[in-house]
Amino acid sequence: MNTLHGTFTQETNFFKGNDVFDLIKQYGSPLYIYNEDILRARCKEMKNLVTYSNFVPHYSIKANTNIHLLKIVHEEGLHADVMSPGEIYLALESGFKPEELFFIPNNVTPEDMQYAIDRGITTSIDSLDQLELYGELNPGGKVAIRFNPGVGAGHHEKVVTGGKKTKFGVNPEYIPEVKRILESYNLTLVGINQHIGSLFMDAAPYIESLSSILDIARQFDDLEFIDLGGGFGIPYHKQDGENRLDINALGEALNPVLEAFAEEYGKNIQFQIEPGRYIPCESCLLLGQVTATKTNADHNYLGCDIGFNTLQRPIMYDSHHDIEIYSKENKDATLAPLTVVGNICESGDILAKDRMLPASTSRGDLIAMMDAGAYGYSMASCYNQRFRPAEILICSDGSVKQIRKRDTFEDLIRNML
Ligand SMILES: *Cc1c(COP(=O)(O)O)cnc(C)c1O
Repeated sequence: MNTLHGTFTQETNFFKGNDVFDLIKQYGSPLYIYNEDILRARCKEMKNLVTYSNFVPHYSIKANTNIHLLKIVHEEGLHADVMSPGEIYLALESGFKPEELFFIPNNVTPEDMQYAIDRGITTSIDSLDQLELYGELNPGGKVAIRFNPGVGAGHHEKVVTGGKKTKFGVNPEYIPEVKRILESYNLTLVGINQHIGSLFMDAAPYIESLSSILDIARQFDDLEFIDLGGGFGIPYHKQDGENRLDINALGEALNPVLEAFAEEYGKNIQFQIEPGRYIPCESCLLLGQVTATKTNADHNYLGCDIGFNTLQRPIMYDSHHDIEIYSKENKDATLAPLTVVGNICESGDILAKDRMLPASTSRGDLIAMMDAGAYGYSMASCYNQRFRPAEILICSDGSVKQIRKRDTFEDLIRNML
């Protein structure tokens, strides 16, 4: 195999000697491919972010739910955030203990809440109304609250979760009401959390948002933990030279704030963070086949079998994913603008518009959508009755482990009565 375009997989020895053409033949196309070394490296980076002694990164299960990957994340010592009973179920199945989970739902039913209460999982409440509900279900219990500090950040309007224009969190103005509800149900507020948004590449707004959450913390006496949220970005534009979020600088800015607050609060309170995509994103690519090239009204299209059912991010958030191209032959790599499209019957099924890719790319080559490990498979569907792909893991020793089967025709009809 020759890499016609892109350098990331070569630089990281991503495939560890496995041939992508063989992998597609064996596991079907498209195919989600993960690299264990990269996944573990990201976990370790988050574990070691600060030297403050009571610090736990929480992986957000919604970004990637594969149980084999969750086991690795758990082995690396991370805890997990869960958004639904389904995610609680998966986390417990992967070996997380109830006390290692933090349930951060919003607008859930009493049944959802009860599911977490029955399993002893700390729950974060997102509104005064749901705090009342929690009090009714679990009087005398422990609870956490998600506050909205009024600061937002993120790469797209749909992922900014802090600030005035989002549905998330309790406005700190309501702290007197919060206290009244806590008291009337004899609830203890053991934790507070925030999440200002996703994918920031600069530590400043994150550090800035700390002062407001710590101000809120000062107003409660029994806190066991403060969850500072996540949203750590990854460089999706590596091919354009985008820099990584400076994790060392973030850690160095964070550490003294945590130390100082713990001293002031008078206990070695636990600090948590919620890195979601940061953990699995770069450990994965989605590999597919180039199925056709054509020219329509002066526009050059590169057709492939990666439909938006298998990778929703470009359609949902206008997201950019770097692209690599692999060929059996040694071809000319001269670039031209190509619009990369999938196999779904919708004109919006576009993976990349006018992307500079080798003009020689042709049917039979393979195409990889990079950085697909977060919100890739977890958002995939079988729309157009296309099978959801298999997932494989390139293990540290270079062996290949299949961690999810591809859908089959039977899966398409399984739940129909
Ligand atoms: C989704 C989510 C995260 C992680 O967000 P990313 O965009 O994956 O970084 C963290 N905390 C909460 C509460 C979330 O809902």
